[in-house]
Amino acid sequence: MNVFNVNDNLENKMTANSPKISAKKVNVFYGENHALKDISLDINPNQVTALIGPSGCGKSTFLRCLNRMNDTIDICRVEGTITLDNQNINDKALDVVQLRARVGMVFQKPNPFPKSVYDNIAYGPRLHGIAKNKNDLDDIVQSSLKKAGLWNEVHDRLDESGTSLSGGQQQRLCIARTIAIEPEVILMDEPCSALDPIATAIIEELIEDLKTRYAIVIVTHSMQQAARISQKTAFFHLGKLMEMGDTTTIFTNPRHEKTKDYITGRYG
Ligand code: ADP
Ligand code: MG
Repeated sequence: MNVFNVNDNLENKMTANSPKISAKKVNVFYGENHALKDISLDINPNQVTALIGPSGCGKSTFLRCLNRMNDTIDICRVEGTITLDNQNINDKALDVVQLRARVGMVFQKPNPFPKSVYDNIAYGPRLHGIAKNKNDLDDIVQSSLKKAGLWNEVHDRLDESGTSLSGGQQQRLCIARTIAIEPEVILMDEPCSALDPIATAIIEELIEDLKTRYAIVIVTHSMQQAARISQKTAFFHLGKLMEMGDTTTIFTNPRHEKTKDYITGRYG
C-alpha cells in the first residue's frame, strides 16, 4: 500500500472545514492510574495547536494517543475515538506504520540516528519506498533539509554523523527527517526545552513556516512560546482538558480560574 494513494483517497472524503484530527472522549490508563479523562478536542489543518498545563497533567500522554505511540507502553490502555481525516486511527485498514508516517513526531531531546546527516533523512523514504532512485532520494534529502532550515549549514557535511551537529541543528535534523516522509501532522513534545534561546527562536520561526503545510501540535511548558506560535491553545489540568480556544482568548480572557492561575504563573 502506497502512502500517497491512501492520502488521495482520504482527501476525497474530506470537506474543507473538517478537523484534521478529532478526539472524542479519550480516556487513558496506566494500570490503575487514570491519566486522561474524557478528552474531546479537534486539531485543525494549517494551524499550530499548543498543549499547556502543569507537569504530569497528561500532555505527552495525549500527544502519544494521536499516533498510537502509547501502544508501545505495555501498561497503557487507551479508550475513546480518535479520527484522522474522519477515519478511526484504530481502523484495521490503517496500519500503524502508515499512521506514524502521516502523523510524525519530534521529541524533547533531539534523537538523530547514529548515522550520517544524509542517512538520517534518507532512512524514512527508503523504508516507505518513497524514492524511485538515488536522484530522487538526493532531492528528498535536499528539500527536507531546506524546509527544516538546515540546508545552508549542512550541505557540505552530509556525510558527517548527525550526532556531530549542535543541539539546535540536531533538532532541525529530526524535523527534516519527519518532513522527508511527507507527513500531514507533526507532533512536537517540548521540542525546544533542550535548546538555547537562539536555537529556540530558529525552531519557532520554522514552526511558523511549517504550519502552511501541516497541522502542528506542540506541547510546551513555555507560556510565551505558546502565545507566540500557536493559534489554538488547550489547557490540561490533572488529566482533564480544562478549556480550549483561540490562543489570544485563552491568554487574555480564560474562562476558568485554574487557567488564569496557570498562565499568570501562580503554579507550574
Ligand atoms: P505531562 O506530559 O503533562 O507532564 P504525562 O503525560 O507525561 O504528563 O503524564 C501524565 C500521567 O501519566 C502522570 O501521572 C504520569 O506519571 C503518567 N505516565 C506517563 N507516562 C507513563 C508511563 N510510561 N508509564 C506509567 N505512567 C506514565
Ligand atoms: Mg510531557
